Amino acid sequence: MAEPRLRPPDPGAVRRITSLTNPVVKGVRGLWLAKNRRASGLFLAEGLKLVMDAVEFGWPLRRLVFATGRDGGEHLDELASGCRKGGGEVLEVSEAVLAKIARRDNPQTVIGVFEQRFRPAESIEPARDSTWIALEEVRDPGNLGTIIRTGDAVGAAGVILVGDTVDPYSVETVRATMGSVFHVPLVRADHAGFAQLAAAWPGSIVGTHLAAVDDYRQTLYRRPTLLVMGAERSGLGEPTAALCSDLVRIPMDGAADSLNLAVATALMLFEIRRDELRLP
Ligand code: SAM
Repeated sequence: MAEPRLRPPDPGAVRRITSLTNPVVKGVRGLWLAKNRRASGLFLAEGLKLVMDAVEFGWPLRRLVFATGRDGGEHLDELASGCRKGGGEVLEVSEAVLAKIARRDNPQTVIGVFEQRFRPAESIEPARDSTWIALEEVRDPGNLGTIIRTGDAVGAAGVILVGDTVDPYSVETVRATMGSVFHVPLVRADHAGFAQLAAAWPGSIVGTHLAAVDDYRQTLYRRPTLLVMGAERSGLGEPTAALCSDLVRIPMDGAADSLNLAVATALMLFEIRRDELRLP
């Protein structure tokens, strides 16, 4: 049966819900599905710390869900009052309802509903020292979340999702980012938009390719650097590879024919960062 559309929150309200069939509960739970996230522009984040970090980074809470009787201490009170003041809705629910929304027994203390954010590709004006990450057709939510988290760890300026990619605001991806989804700007671009961005890019555009000749440790990364990673299955497409100023490979021994996408991205990002520290 189709999930109902999530109606707008009742600004400043606190609602107590125990019914598993309540339409608001169904609507919030429906945000597990990509089609409902697309239709509403909303997404879920689980856990008190994650939700607090999000609010601290300037993401207004549209809805805050917590279970009656759970000890969230003063932090939960602060979140609830901030949510209400900001026009969001606080849902105090039974344990069974929270477990239903979270789709698991023993769920986190709180669940937050936030609005998705994407920056348009045309708005990118790369700062001189910045590193941007472009992911072509990334498909695995865990890989994407890990890359967003790693990008955050190296101070990357943002992640550009090129073509048809997995949803960065799925529950699995948000979980894997460990909060970095609230800190790293996300950009969506189709292939034509990415080609335009690449044509005007002032620094290195570094594609990673299994068939590349150059070793990633012997390449000079001109800043701002745009790192371009290929898809898990098919690798970097030839048209995208043709946009790159450099193509590099990470040498491997053994029988593995490639590295995991998130691992390869992490190696590249730390090498680019090492290069930045070495250069004047
Ligand atoms: N079968 C795919 C192929 O032929 O490219 C494997 C893709 S690999 C799992 C996903 C992405 O990680 C690649 O497109 C590339 O961007 C990066 N990658 C993985 N291992 C790499 C390596 N040893 N050198 C350079 N890039 C690598």
